Amino acid sequence: MDEIIKQIKDPKLLLQIERVVSFHGYLATGAFIGIRMFNIAQDVLGFQDGERIYVTCETSNCIPDAFQILAGATIGNNGMRIVDFGKMAVVVNRQVLAGVTSARGIRIYLDPDKTKKYPKLHAWYLNTEKVPHEDVIPELLKAGDGVYSHEISDIAIPVRHTKCVKMCEACGESFVSHGDAVLCGACTRDYGGNV
Ligand SMILES: [Zn+2]
Repeated sequence: MDEIIKQIKDPKLLLQIERVVSFHGYLATGAFIGIRMFNIAQDVLGFQDGERIYVTCETSNCIPDAFQILAGATIGNNGMRIVDFGKMAVVVNRQVLAGVTSARGIRIYLDPDKTKKYPKLHAWYLNTEKVPHEDVIPELLKAGDGVYSHEISDIAIPVRHTKCVKMCEACGESFVSHGDAVLCGACTRDYGGNV
């Protein structure tokens, strides 16, 4: 993988790869795709580095980490939401002023019609064979922005409810309630661990 990275001449992309690798652990194919998606979103929406953006990732794999480190849109600051549809796609919008209920957003996805031209990438994407990252990344580099499609749409901005802290009637622990619930989430549903 180091040999592949050495061949990259674009200093901005190199710096982005370095930052994402230090956060994600290695240059996964999905993390690389996330970097490209971030750059496309920035080009189209025109936000500055460090500007607050909101991201919805349609997969929990790899792509969120590129946006968390490059855009600072994290799970913890509510800039990142994951709706795991198992799709290589993200929706991005800029911050809007208080009271504004919709924002111009971009949805970017890895387009299988376009990945067809790159056999290893396509096979990896459709999971028709096991292709190592070392074989997919060179094709992604060659493809540039040519394997992504995007659409612009208005995104509804959710209304923020006033925070209300209650004591759960079952476990006795405090929890943030957004409605009239008297039981905390842990007492009303099971949740599994990570696998
Ligand atoms: Zn409880």
